[in-house]
Amino acid sequence: MAISAKAVPQAMPRIAPREDLNVFRISQIQFDIAAEHLKLEAGLRQVLRTPKRVMEVSVPAKMDNGQVKVFTGYRVQHNIARGPAKGGVRYHPGVTLDEVKALAMWMTWKTAAVNIPFGGAKGGVICDPKRMSKSELERMTRRFCSEILPIIGPERDIPAPDVYTDSQTMAWMMDTYSMTVGYSALGVVTGKPVALGGSEGRNEATARGCLFVTEEACKVKKINLRGATVAIQGFGNAGSIAARLFAEKKAKIVAISDSRGGVHNSRGIDPYKAVRYKERSGTVVGMPGTSRISNDDLLTMKCDILIPAALENVITLNNAEQIKAKIVAEAANGPTTPHADEVLARRGIMVLPDVLANSGGVTTSYFEWVQDLQNFFWTETEVNAKLETVMKRAFHEVHETARKNHVHMRTGAYILAVGRVADATVVRGLFP
Ligand code: NAD
Repeated sequence: MAISAKAVPQAMPRIAPREDLNVFRISQIQFDIAAEHLKLEAGLRQVLRTPKRVMEVSVPAKMDNGQVKVFTGYRVQHNIARGPAKGGVRYHPGVTLDEVKALAMWMTWKTAAVNIPFGGAKGGVICDPKRMSKSELERMTRRFCSEILPIIGPERDIPAPDVYTDSQTMAWMMDTYSMTVGYSALGVVTGKPVALGGSEGRNEATARGCLFVTEEACKVKKINLRGATVAIQGFGNAGSIAARLFAEKKAKIVAISDSRGGVHNSRGIDPYKAVRYKERSGTVVGMPGTSRISNDDLLTMKCDILIPAALENVITLNNAEQIKAKIVAEAANGPTTPHADEVLARRGIMVLPDVLANSGGVTTSYFEWVQDLQNFFWTETEVNAKLETVMKRAFHEVHETARKNHVHMRTGAYILAVGRVADATVVRGLFP
């Protein structure tokens, strides 16, 4: 197989007439569109659209009732042409291998879009963390880490938190890895507690990065963020912190939601009160001074900025014509399908794609890894200033690439990112 960037004519990738919601196929369609613009050679396309390494593991863990339960876990490394693999670990009953493969591929484009020296990876365990005790989660996490240990490490593959995993999960993984290799390896995971080599600012980084690129998008779209109305789907790490940071910029948070439903108030919701209410009651639903709204209605309500910050495939052909926001900032991974992308672009709605809009998390993870390897730690102000530089530069590079190629922002981001990974792959050549 030859690897060269030489152009070969190819038919435009075909999108199935009925909308396909398999996220791995969606990630490949998105890649194919960029590959076509870049006129990548067929062999190179095959290399880049296929995960480099896929690991499936059985994770036996003792439950609090004494019985052993066997969970299925995955770690997928999509590409390491530009540096070690990097990506989160998700705990969710709906985890599938295809989902993890898609998320790993998106990580490759994300690290390339913001131009940090990592490849892409993702992990997941099929489990229901809401129904597990802390000690059950600890035992499962440690065994999962032990099972994937042969392929992770500070120079190989560096996990981080994702849906329903957090800094505590990362602390257990760091400890399990360190106890096995015999020394404290701070750089094996990111998103750790600050007491354990975590970075200042990492907890807020995904939302802060989303804010930085949205600020730039507002300038392009001539929207004043002060007073702009914002609806946020998902009130976890990404969504709840985005609510706080956007409110600090005097934007008005008009709706928020979680897996149990949403709440709405056209005069604005105080994100601090919402966090406290959710801590007490486990959901934002029922928060005083708000009225109930469904997750579906939240997406199509009148607002200036819509932030999907939960799961994949929520903006589809079923609702894309009804979206009223002027900017969709994808804090979540994969919330918009390729068909919906076309509808939103036709309607003049600017989508800040996931590989750009939520890349603040991995960018600050990169800062954390650099600090860990150097044993030299930065202040939160330094971290946020560096993040702002990276995010705003990435926004303008993506916007310019999209403008030059007459495509929407997602394809612009992909042309930029896939082009960088393709260049690295070609210049390295094919081993042996
Ligand atoms: P989280 O577990 O902290 O929060 C997830 C939120 O989504 C919760 O509020 C949950 O109730 C809500 N949710 C779950 N199912 C839902 C549904 N069907 N409808 C509406 N809400 C639902 O997770 P997170 O870390 O905030 O991740 C959210 C998204 O952001 C994911 O797509 C993740 O991949 C992406 N992301 C997160 C980070 C990060 O640093 N945390 C970085 C990049 C991307």
